[in-house]
Amino acid sequence: MQVYKVGGAVRDRLLGLPVTDVDRVVVGATTEEMLAQGFRPVGADFPVFLHPKTGEEYALARTERKSGRGYGGFTFYASPEVTLEEDLIRRDLTINAMAEDDQLNLTDPYHGQRDLEARILRHVSPAFAEDPLRVLRVARFAARYAGLGFTVADETMDLMRQLSESGELQALTAERSWKEISRALMEDHPQVFIQVLRDCGALKVLMPEVDALFGVPQPATHHPEIDTGLHTLSVLEQSALHKQPLTVRWACLLHDLGKGLTPEEEWPRHIAHEHTGLKLIKAVNERFKVPKDCQELALLVGQYHTHGHRALELKASTLLELLQSFDIYRRPQRFEEFIAACEMDARGRKGLELRSYPQADYLRGAAKAAREVAVQPLLEQGFKGPELGEALKRERLKALKIYKDNA
Ligand code: ATP
Ligand code: MG
Repeated sequence: MQVYKVGGAVRDRLLGLPVTDVDRVVVGATTEEMLAQGFRPVGADFPVFLHPKTGEEYALARTERKSGRGYGGFTFYASPEVTLEEDLIRRDLTINAMAEDDQLNLTDPYHGQRDLEARILRHVSPAFAEDPLRVLRVARFAARYAGLGFTVADETMDLMRQLSESGELQALTAERSWKEISRALMEDHPQVFIQVLRDCGALKVLMPEVDALFGVPQPATHHPEIDTGLHTLSVLEQSALHKQPLTVRWACLLHDLGKGLTPEEEWPRHIAHEHTGLKLIKAVNERFKVPKDCQELALLVGQYHTHGHRALELKASTLLELLQSFDIYRRPQRFEEFIAACEMDARGRKGLELRSYPQADYLRGAAKAAREVAVQPLLEQGFKGPELGEALKRERLKALKIYKDNA
C-alpha cells in the first residue's frame, strides 16, 4: 500500500502556512489490511481509520457517485484498485486535490499548484455540483485566503450559482451548514464569506434575512456607507480585525436584520428595527441550530445595540434595565461581548473605523457601579424575598445616578 498526504496539509505547506491537521489517503489497501495493522476504524459512511499511535486520519482511496438528493445521496466505492488520481478527482478544489508522498513528490493531476500560484479557487470537475456543501466550503476558503489574494474562478461561481438556484442547498442539514458558517466566521475575512455567498445567490437561499439588507439605505449622517448590507459586511470585517469570538461575530452579522423589514416610505430611517429584527434573528438561529451562547448574544445585541450607542444619554433607570436584561451579576462575560459587538457596529462604517467608542468604558463603569451595591446591609435591615430584590434595585438605581452625575 502507498500512503500520501492530501488536502489542506499539502496546500498549506505549498503556501508556506502552518499545517495543523493532516489528512492521508491510502492506495492499494483493504479494510482488513488496515485493521490488521492496528488502525482504528472511524468512518460510518466511508472507510476512514485513525493511526494507532499518532491518531491522524487515514482514508482508503475511494470514488463517489451521486445517487440521490443531499449529502446522504452518495454511493462510495473503496477498493485497492482505486487510483490516487481517481480519489483526487472527487475533491472540491484543485488546490485541495494534490497529494504528496514521504519524499514530498507531488501528485497534481488537476493543476492545483498552478491555481495556487494564480491565487484561484477552482473546482476540480463538474462533479463539484453533486454536493451543495461545497458552495459553503468555497466561500469559506475565499474568506480564509482573501488576504493572499485568492478569488473564486468564474466557472466555479457559475456552478455555485446553479447549485443555489437548483434548490439543492436546502437539502443541507443544519449541522453541516452551521459547521461551515461558524468556521467561516472565524476566518480572517469573514465578510468575504458572506460576499461570495451573496454573489452566487446562496445567501438568498440560506439567509434571506441578511441578503435583504443589501440595497436598503440608512441615513448618511450615521452611516456614510449608506447601504445596510455593506454596513453589515464592514461590521463583520471589524469583528475579525479585532479578533472577536464567534458569539460576537454571529451577533454582528445579525444585529440589523430588522432594517430589511422597514417599509420603503420610511427609508432611510428605521424606527424600532431593534424590535422588528428579533423574530428574524430567532428564525436564523433556529434554522442552523446555532449554539445557545451565539443565539442569546445575537438576540440581545439585536435588541439593545442602539442602547449601547446611546449609553451616555440613557437615564439611570434605562441603564439599570439594560444591565438587568444582561444579568451582568451572573454573566459578566456576556455583557463584555455585547459591548464589543456595539463597538464593532460603531466602527463598521465607512471612514469611521478608527473612531473612539467612549460608550464601552462608560458601560463597564456602570456595570461596576451596579455590581458594587452590597446585599449584606439590606439583609441586615431585614429585607427578604421579592422585597430584597426591590430594595437591591433601588440601591443600584441610586448608585447609577451617582455614577452618571460623576461621569
Ligand atoms: P482545513 O484546513 O480546513 O482542514 P482541508 O482542505 O484539509 O482544510 P478538510 O475538511 O479537512 O479540509 O478536508 C480534507 C480534504 O478532503 C479537502 O482538502 C478536500 O480535498 C476533501 N474534501 C473535504 N470535504 C469535501 C467535500 N464536501 N467535497 C469534496 N471534497 C472534500
Ligand atoms: Mg483538513
